[in-house]
Amino acid sequence: MGQMSDGMGRRELVKRLGVGGIGLASTTILPMRPAQAASDNSSDATASSSVVSPETALERLLDGNQRFIKQKREYPHQTPKDWQALATAQHPFATLLTCADSRVPGEIIFDQGIGDLFDVRVAGNVVTPEVLGSLEYAAALLGTRLIMVVGHERCGAVTAAVQGEALPGHISTFVKAIKPALASLKTKSADVNQQIDQAVTANVQYQVEQLKQNSNVLAQLVLERKLKIVGGRYDLDTGAVTIVT
Ligand SMILES: [Zn+2]
Repeated sequence: MGQMSDGMGRRELVKRLGVGGIGLASTTILPMRPAQAASDNSSDATASSSVVSPETALERLLDGNQRFIKQKREYPHQTPKDWQALATAQHPFATLLTCADSRVPGEIIFDQGIGDLFDVRVAGNVVTPEVLGSLEYAAALLGTRLIMVVGHERCGAVTAAVQGEALPGHISTFVKAIKPALASLKTKSADVNQQIDQAVTANVQYQVEQLKQNSNVLAQLVLERKLKIVGGRYDLDTGAVTIVT
């Protein structure tokens, strides 16, 4: 379990991760070197005014979703001034693990802007090693205090997992990552659409559990109350995100 002592500074964590940790330097999707990440945040992200409590971060997301539903969006942080201010450092307040589905774009459904959300998107919002590494990076190095896994109604990836048919190429990789979630369904509806709907929620809950169980970095931050991990379900018809775990 946790390798970090209580109250370990982010700088110390950066140092440890850089030495023997999750190998940020070698990843192709996150080319930033640990040393660079540290200097980008030399004012310490945890002390930044943009860093909020996990509860406030959740509130901010849900408020944004309400504005989206009511068509009262504010389109925050989308001017040249905003992106220029973020050109050398980022302090996103929340991290999303969302399905790659074209109908579930985080910044739109939560009415957020540039620099607000650290987005990880993959079909079926599944936790693979690369996804886990990205989420750890956001929480440990960028200081985001909330991770929300967002599944959605009528998800094609979940549908494929429920139907269990043979799929070409590498498509089965993410289906394989959803399958264990289906095992947790105690009562299966006779109606296949209902079954898929149940599986969407079960998959979100399962992926949240994967995050909690498979990452010492995240578990320690949760223990220190510096991170909250929740699961949401997005309704394609109403535009509403409901917290399911
Ligand atoms: Zn989907």
